[in-house]
Amino acid sequence: MLPLVPVQPKNIEHYRGVAGDEVIDEILRLAEGLKGARVAHINSTAHGGGVAELLYTLVPLMSSVGLQAEWHIMNGDPDFFTITKLFHNALQGMDIPVTSEMKMKYLSVCGENASDCGQDYDFVIVHDPQPCALFAAMKDRAIRRGKWIWRCHIDSTFAQDDAWEFLVPYINLYDGAVFTMQSFVKSQLEVPCLAFIPPSIDPLSAKNIIPEKRVQSDIARRYGVDETRPIMLQVSRFDPWKDPLGLVDCYREVKRNHRDLQLVYCASMADDDPEGWHYYEKTFNYADGDPDIFLLSNQQGVGNVEVSAFQAMADVVLQKSLREGFGLTVTEAMWKRKPVVAGAVGGILLQVDDGVNGFLIDDIGEAAEKVSMLLDSPATAQRMGEAGHDKVRRNFLSTRHLLDYLRFFHILLRN
Ligand code: UDP
Repeated sequence: MLPLVPVQPKNIEHYRGVAGDEVIDEILRLAEGLKGARVAHINSTAHGGGVAELLYTLVPLMSSVGLQAEWHIMNGDPDFFTITKLFHNALQGMDIPVTSEMKMKYLSVCGENASDCGQDYDFVIVHDPQPCALFAAMKDRAIRRGKWIWRCHIDSTFAQDDAWEFLVPYINLYDGAVFTMQSFVKSQLEVPCLAFIPPSIDPLSAKNIIPEKRVQSDIARRYGVDETRPIMLQVSRFDPWKDPLGLVDCYREVKRNHRDLQLVYCASMADDDPEGWHYYEKTFNYADGDPDIFLLSNQQGVGNVEVSAFQAMADVVLQKSLREGFGLTVTEAMWKRKPVVAGAVGGILLQVDDGVNGFLIDDIGEAAEKVSMLLDSPATAQRMGEAGHDKVRRNFLSTRHLLDYLRFFHILLRN
């Protein structure tokens, strides 16, 4: 069997207060018809990045409503993850040649994983390109009893043709596919069932509960950040699409008029992202020893509580992404009533309403202008933060996400 990721149990009833009776009752009604269904999620890492973050909540919530949900991770060596990161980048629009060696290695690792993959499920959700071809490699694919779903989390708006054309025949074998937005779907996709489901955050997780003021102050002190001075924050992997150098440029521009500004960048190094260290080094060199730039990561003990504390202490949160499937970090910050200044790309267009709960920006100059404006006008920042919190409550909590999956399971069974 593929390695199983242990998850802490969760209780759907605990979410009534935050999500409302109507949503919980509808979840329980739909779950009734799916009682005992065996569900497997398969992805490529248990640590770092948005997919792992989602599964730590979605899997136990599915179990809490009577399904038997499990989470497995695929096996792969460093060469495989280097190749899948290149696929990821090509699917987000980078001009990268997809060579036959890359394809062969990818298919061979997916084939090895297929032979370790159990068959006895009612629903299998395969996340992102890394394990996508695993289903094609299953020997008894034609006689299995469950429904297989491919879940795309990346921003494929500008997918490079070679990469998409390589992958699409493998996607088309699935019973269904889930994308965050319609604009992520490319030509030649012919899965029988398609759904558009945005991701979500868990309002009850350590990441989204605001630590007490005293804990926040301790955390600021531990990392040398002065909480009495303005903080501009980005929480992201070190990745070209998160534009860490553009973020530093933006900070420098704002700092011209806000001399006491600090930039905090919290990053987590994901197991399936071999580019992390390379981009960390680039950003570190670019920061050029500026004592007001703090590049922090899970390697220095920045975990859920620390991220939450920095989100709570920040005056403005940035997400200077150039592509983004859906920035969980954007939603996490909005939940903490922070205005977010974010790249007008991909899933961020669903998350941020320009001028209402944050600002959508196209370049560094625009980002700097909006950050300055928010620093100069705390009342505007507060009003936008409240609007953001309300938007997340209505649209982007785990309960809505679970409901969407249950609806999709019913549709697949009807088909
Ligand atoms: N994250 C974290 N610690 C960090 C940096 C990021 O826990 O130092 C989390 C972040 O809070 C979010 C996830 O990693 O929940 C990143 O998800 P997102 O969708 O924003 O980006 P992805 O990494 O999937 O592209």
